[in-house]
Amino acid sequence: EEILKSANTELGHVSDMIGRMILSHPNIAFELEHEEKNILKSPGTGDLAQAVFAVYGGDVARKMNEINYHGEEKIFGFVSRPELTRSTRHYYNFFVNGRYVRSSELAAILEEAFYTRIPAKRYPVAVVHFTLDPQAFDVNVHPTKLEIKFRNPSVLKSSFLRALEEIFRWPTDMIPRVSLPYTAPKFQPVQREKDYVVQEIYQEKLSLVSEGSAYPHKLEILPTRKPEQEKEPEAENRQVFTNMKVLGQLDGTYILASGPEGLYIIDQHAAHERIRFEKIKKAFCTHPAESEYLAVPGIIELTPQQALWLVKNIVAIKDLGFIMEHFGENTFLLRGVPRWNSGGNSEELLLAIVEKLGNESEQLQIDRLVEEELFTMACKSAVKANQHLTEADISYLLNQLEQSNNPYSCPHGRPVLIKINREEIQKRFMRN
Ligand SMILES: [Zn+2]
Repeated sequence: EEILKSANTELGHVSDMIGRMILSHPNIAFELEHEEKNILKSPGTGDLAQAVFAVYGGDVARKMNEINYHGEEKIFGFVSRPELTRSTRHYYNFFVNGRYVRSSELAAILEEAFYTRIPAKRYPVAVVHFTLDPQAFDVNVHPTKLEIKFRNPSVLKSSFLRALEEIFRWPTDMIPRVSLPYTAPKFQPVQREKDYVVQEIYQEKLSLVSEGSAYPHKLEILPTRKPEQEKEPEAENRQVFTNMKVLGQLDGTYILASGPEGLYIIDQHAAHERIRFEKIKKAFCTHPAESEYLAVPGIIELTPQQALWLVKNIVAIKDLGFIMEHFGENTFLLRGVPRWNSGGNSEELLLAIVEKLGNESEQLQIDRLVEEELFTMACKSAVKANQHLTEADISYLLNQLEQSNNPYSCPHGRPVLIKINREEIQKRFMRN
């Protein structure tokens, strides 16, 4: 059994390696067989989309968007939309001038682009090629030559981020689409059986399964941008929520609405969180250090440890808009609170920040810290589930979502809304 286990592990490594070869050289046909079973097979047509399909299958391939950036450097490939994530970074495939590389820098940029769009500890699937000037990087930092060092990481970062924006450009693609696996109903009408959708779906599945010989000619990988839509992505963006017609509320938790593509289900708590989060963030960005003086100062009693942390970081805390005065021992007077947190509980926020500062072993990144605290606050004041909303509440919520930068996920990366396409509904009612 041990041998079998290790054989399987080996096979895993080998198929990993072949998978990467397929993705790095879509123009070469690869085939991996094990005990007469075809494990991997690529068509070698030079089409990266087909290579992605060969390695990850249609389900994954269809949930990836193409990225394409032409500047000093060329960046192209496929990255999954927020609806498709994995629990490890194992699905990051970065190729520099055709060579597979491991790069924590590239991984960090990818993750920055997805920040708050997917839950923490979830990772996208990425197949990204970088065509760079050979002078722009150094691969000799590690004996295996897998690790890479970039000469000018900040330039590469801005290009890569620009390329990644494409994934989030099309608002309706950002809404997770619900299409449950279709199971044929027990009752099957006898007549005209051939005309039924069940049949068609089954056929479609068959043709996908026998992919050994027949690669789908055209993959349903969504183009990131259609030329005629290029004009006004902003205007497009603004139409998602205002074009909805509210149908009602479900379980005091979800808003049901009909819209351009079918039925939309909005999680009101997630929606409200996103709205509140962006409000605070905007206020913070415009007036980070501005304070509101309190008519009656708050008294903050800390433990000796907390007091130390506070004193050590007093400048950073001031920069967030807190005005403090030492009162004696471990007690402080809070004379002013951040304007950007207007309406929120600033004393609680201060305590949370002090705790965070103390427990942070590495150099503190104040931006990230603030965002994290913003999430917590946004959550606390958001509409809870099981709360009846009036028509006016709902239309207010939809209007606010329309104005959000990213209305599709809450700050923790949960989806704000999902949609069930018209075609999906038709399929289920066996209409053509
Ligand atoms: Zn959330």
